[in-house]
Amino acid sequence: MRVVTFQGPGEVRVEEKRDPELVAADDCVVKVEASGICGSDLHIYHGRVPVETGFTIGHEFVGTVAAAGDGVERVAVGDRVVGCFFTACATCTPCLRGDYGQTFGHGSQLGNLQGAQAEQLLVPRANMTLRRVPDSVSTDVALFAGDVMGTGFHAIAHGGMQPGDTVAVLGLGPVGLCAIQAALVAGAVEVFAIDTIAERLEMARSFGAMPLHLTEQDIKREVRAATGGAGVDLAVDAVGNADPLALAISLTRDCGSVSGIGAYAGRAEIPLGLAWLKGLSLRLGLANVIAHVDRVLALLEAGKLDPSPLVSSHMKLDEAPDAYGIFDRREALKIVLAP
Ligand code: NAD
Ligand code: ZN
Repeated sequence: MRVVTFQGPGEVRVEEKRDPELVAADDCVVKVEASGICGSDLHIYHGRVPVETGFTIGHEFVGTVAAAGDGVERVAVGDRVVGCFFTACATCTPCLRGDYGQTFGHGSQLGNLQGAQAEQLLVPRANMTLRRVPDSVSTDVALFAGDVMGTGFHAIAHGGMQPGDTVAVLGLGPVGLCAIQAALVAGAVEVFAIDTIAERLEMARSFGAMPLHLTEQDIKREVRAATGGAGVDLAVDAVGNADPLALAISLTRDCGSVSGIGAYAGRAEIPLGLAWLKGLSLRLGLANVIAHVDRVLALLEAGKLDPSPLVSSHMKLDEAPDAYGIFDRREALKIVLAP
């Protein structure tokens, strides 16, 4: 089968590997029909998140179950399924607490699971990791349930947003744009959407948010003016570095919450004293999409969440090296690869 592998910073390659085979009774092999390229893949592409040379990357997938072990009950051969971007053993103590850590396509450090930008994928713990896609939900839309929309949903839920709250979302990549939809569906009265890219700000406006240009507008003044001087109840950093996290801290009201959903790496300087003085709750970490995937699929099926405008391009798996270049230059919002 053909797969996309990481070769070194700025280089991915399409290579041939052996087809996967079932190992455990609750494994499935999925014939991948669509896989996404994600902001998280860019961290790997840039060498910020370490992955072994030759490792198959990708963690967002929809496909058809090609083989299922005897212990798989939730899905069956022939089903169209979406996968969560990570899996869990559901027996060890961290998993039972909900602290999962085995992510597809992220190298040995994050669970050693080969990636989904491939013709086929071995999916462990399929009862937990896979969901049947409702007939009325397209493959493109379903692809968002296992990561990007689940992650946007998590940023809002984990941040403790309540109906009637105000929210700021920093970074309008797919994750930030999905967080806007999740906030509005959860009853946010105002969502401020912050980025520098005109098309992304425009899309945020079309979803019902108030777009704010990071460098052409005085963000702090605008948000203060629109919130009676208080700041927002919840700020979401959907970028994943120190500058947006620092701005999120300053935009949040006293005793509000900051949800750092972007993936941070390394050390950084942030205004910790301000966060302490304000008494902020700071929520970080991997999005627990397994906890949300059924709700997210229900909201997608009902049309209350709709990420379809985010899909900007469809490309072939063989075009992955070009696709990564295009995505890295921010010339595409979401690229879906098909074998
Ligand atoms: P993306 O790279 O497509 O989007 C990032 C956006 O942030 C871009 O539009 C960029 O213009 C904007 N931006 C950059 N600097 C900014 C700043 N200082 N202020 C405001 N906007 C700024 O990424 P994506 O696919 O939307 O993913 C976003 C982040 O979420 C990535 O770091 C990704 O790794 C992370 N992620 C985390 C999880 C999780 O489990 N926590 C899951 C999925 C993705
Ligand atoms: Zn992703």
